[in-house]
Amino acid sequence: MHELAIAESIVAIAERHAAGRRVRRVEVAVGHLRQVVPSALEFAFELVAQGTVLDGAELAIGEIPAAGRCRACGTEGGLDGFPLTCRACGGWDVEVIAGEELRVESLDLETEEEIAHGR
Ligand SMILES: [Zn+2]
Repeated sequence: MHELAIAESIVAIAERHAAGRRVRRVEVAVGHLRQVVPSALEFAFELVAQGTVLDGAELAIGEIPAAGRCRACGTEGGLDGFPLTCRACGGWDVEVIAGEELRVESLDLETEEEIAHGR
């Protein structure tokens, strides 16, 4: 299940940024070409997050549409998915310029006040 590997990356990135604070919500942007199934990613995220500062955090998944540049005719445009073909000329020699991303866009961290009340 490749969502598990993606969830592990998300947790690793978020943990680094959180620096020990609890994370309440993580917003990620995933390229369309990664073919992530949101429900599977949410499930994997819950598993991987257990016992970390992300335990119980909400995962918000945004999708980045795929785009490519055709090496044959030079057209840049959206891609529908695999197989990657140019919408203008139908050529197969398409360079992917968007859609393979995996980014952590934002983290909602526990506030100082909440930390104080929790102790
Ligand atoms: Zn083309």
